[in-house]
Amino acid sequence: MVYETVIDKKSHKEYEVLCDKTGENPQKCPACSDHRKKGNQNKKSFSYNAQTGLGFCHNCEFACYRKTEDYKAYVKPKLKTNAQFSERLVEWFQKRQITTTTLEKMRVTESVEWMPQTEREMNVICFNYYREGELVNVKFRDAAKNFKMVKDAEKIFYNLDGIKDKKQVYIVEGEMDCLTMVQCGYDNTVSVPNGATKSKNNLDYFDRCYKYFEEVEEVFICTDHDEPGERTGATYWRGEVLPRAPQWIQRCERAIVLYRSG
Ligand SMILES: [Zn+2]
Repeated sequence: MVYETVIDKKSHKEYEVLCDKTGENPQKCPACSDHRKKGNQNKKSFSYNAQTGLGFCHNCEFACYRKTEDYKAYVKPKLKTNAQFSERLVEWFQKRQITTTTLEKMRVTESVEWMPQTEREMNVICFNYYREGELVNVKFRDAAKNFKMVKDAEKIFYNLDGIKDKKQVYIVEGEMDCLTMVQCGYDNTVSVPNGATKSKNNLDYFDRCYKYFEEVEEVFICTDHDEPGERTGATYWRGEVLPRAPQWIQRCERAIVLYRSG
């Protein structure tokens, strides 16, 4: 008997599941079988796919993904903030039509941070990544558009709390686009943590944010009209999100890919 460790997409609890075959491995559900009626306890309502590393239970909708070797406990960052926004920062955002009200609402802060690209301390904007009001990660951005995230902190969508229980969701490529959307009244917007890339997108963060998409019926993917942007649109919708979110896709009636130029 070969077992693998999986992680529950919702609770992040770990379970051991059977993984003898190369494809689907139907078996008792590690999450619900013990709580089922006597006659149903051995029903193979759960199946783990050895190829994709994803498992799903048709009885309780337990969904999990493979715990990989590089899995580690995440670092919890500390909030870095000045008491007040500097004039420079306020002006910088004003030029981009983003008000201090929006900055406060989105809990944007500013700080001084050592940036590897310049190898010195820089004034930075802190895009704080919250989940259920808890700070999970921070993306630092300096004036020259260098970025840094907190080492070994968990990657999630930016503004994740903004899409909780929402039927319509907008997905954008970066924090600035997200702030612009919120400024325009679209609070139900999230940004991917690592922008659009030319290479294959790492979608682990989607698995970790899975439960926030369960009620979604319509998703608008708004990416730049360039190669990485188009790839993100295509990656999200066709290639990678579909097999990751069976129940979500059933409910989600349509996904529209919108491209933005400039
Ligand atoms: Zn189950």
